Amino acid sequence: SGLVVAMDGPSGSGKSSASRGVARALGLRYLDTGAMYRAVTWWMLQRGVNLEDSAAVAARSAEPVLVMSTDPDAPGVTVDGVDVNGPIRGPEVTGAVSAVSAVPEVRHRLVTLQREIIAESLPGGGIVVEGRDIGTVVAPDAPVKIYLTADAEARALRRTAELDGTTVEAQKSAMARRDALDSTRKADPLAKAADAVELDTTPLDLDEVIAEVLRLVKE
Ligand code: C5P
Repeated sequence: SGLVVAMDGPSGSGKSSASRGVARALGLRYLDTGAMYRAVTWWMLQRGVNLEDSAAVAARSAEPVLVMSTDPDAPGVTVDGVDVNGPIRGPEVTGAVSAVSAVPEVRHRLVTLQREIIAESLPGGGIVVEGRDIGTVVAPDAPVKIYLTADAEARALRRTAELDGTTVEAQKSAMARRDALDSTRKADPLAKAADAVELDTTPLDLDEVIAEVLRLVKE
């Protein structure tokens, strides 16, 4: 028993707000797996690990201790006890995270941790999990899988509204770069699960996206 809702899709597709809203509406926990890759990246940058050296990243991948808050009203992550929710959204981490998340040892460790967090949530009702590979790798048996998309302009507009001191054009090219890096690695975690329902959020506001996901959950 316990429900797992897998919410995958590229950055700016509206995943985070929608996932939190769905978790709140259903009384479920919420896990942001992107925050986990970002937190490991922050830790590697702090330690001066050369991120272009995947063997060096792999060698240290077991060291950072992550603790996740799965409260949809107060999600968050600490690394070695440090609250990193601010810095993991900054340009330094955003620019470096694709290199770290491409390292198989990093993915293996985080997927294991994600599965533990999912298992712990089940007695309490379940969890909404957002990321890139939830429906394909982390929780292939999830009964509800959503793949959110949005056109490039809409995604860049959303990201620009979230961040300070950036422009739509700058966001568009940064996002295109990150998507390209994320989707060309071997395991292809940007792929949509065959049994995921694709939802284009371009013309929808947040409440409409949440309502549509809730409808799919009830089906
Ligand atoms: O979702 P968010 O933009 O915070 O994710 C940051 C990065 O973490 C992505 O660009 C991707 O490189 C990585 N990621 C991943 N697998 C996930 C979630 C995020 O590889 N499940």
